[in-house]
Amino acid sequence: MSPSLTPATRERLRIAIQKSGRLAEPARTLLAACGLSWRESRDKLFCYGESLPVDLLLVRDDDIPGLIADGVCDFGIVGRNELDEQAGERALIGLPQAYRELRPLGFGNCRLMLAIPESWEWEGLQQLQGLRIATSYPSVLRQWLQARGIDAAVVELSGSVEIAPKLGTADLICDLVSSGATLAANQLKPVETLLESEAVLAGPAREFDDARAGLADMLLRRLDGVLKLKDSKLLMFRAERETVPALSRLLTDSEGLVTLPGGEDGPLSLQAMCHGVVTWQRLEELQRAGAQGLMVLSVERSLA
Ligand code: ATP
Ligand code: ZN
Repeated sequence: MSPSLTPATRERLRIAIQKSGRLAEPARTLLAACGLSWRESRDKLFCYGESLPVDLLLVRDDDIPGLIADGVCDFGIVGRNELDEQAGERALIGLPQAYRELRPLGFGNCRLMLAIPESWEWEGLQQLQGLRIATSYPSVLRQWLQARGIDAAVVELSGSVEIAPKLGTADLICDLVSSGATLAANQLKPVETLLESEAVLAGPAREFDDARAGLADMLLRRLDGVLKLKDSKLLMFRAERETVPALSRLLTDSEGLVTLPGGEDGPLSLQAMCHGVVTWQRLEELQRAGAQGLMVLSVERSLA
């Protein structure tokens, strides 16, 4: 039997993630990289945490903000677009902001954009006055229009927003865009960005006051470690002492050049932890500046 889902003082953390869809797999991979593992349940809704008392609830992404707000889940991994939209809806009916964005997670990147028929000339925001805009994000869109003094009708649709102009139910759309292929396939072009979105870790607005506090701290620390190392590489090389200043200038995204202990004579053995992308071009520049025997190593885990 699944444990009770009612909010209460709990000793285990519960994280809501998308059951299936764009964010499902990367969310699980990220949590696994934080050292979490689970036993799958037969109903595939609840996964019992084995390595730590952290359980997963697999749900539709739309349900995640509400689950956190109601205290059914402690954390959730969800798109900023969904979080902001539901925050707007809650504010509109006078509900308190019961959750907040804790960390951007660097996947599920997309933009909430206005897109108009390809045949239109884009002349700026004033062109929107009096038009009908189809969207699944009415709250974000209304706020955006209001802030700019634009009087346009918001047509709320739950899906297939991109065909609304063709069907005649709206003049233009406001929808999520990543590659832009869906827009192009529907003879639409993006013109304005309302929101830069990505998957985020969301949590309650209030701090925990029970056993979950320590667990939540540990999880956030591990998550920060994983996120920081995502693009990080350890560079190792040898160089003559007089080339070190020039090499340091090429490594401004690193935590600094570290000299490894070694003999007094000959080239120094050096290493640098780089947090930016290490391309071939960068390696060649370092080589020209005096780095010899360059090695680029992936970093799996690190603890400050
Ligand atoms: P569910 O069944 O969970 O309700 P869904 O169909 O609403 O799934 P997905 O299409 O899997 O959700 O999208 C989940 C999230 O992925 C979006 O809310 C958004 O944050 C992000 N995303 C990234 N790129 C895109 C894109 N091109 N279109 C839509 N969402 C995108
Ligand atoms: Zn959804």
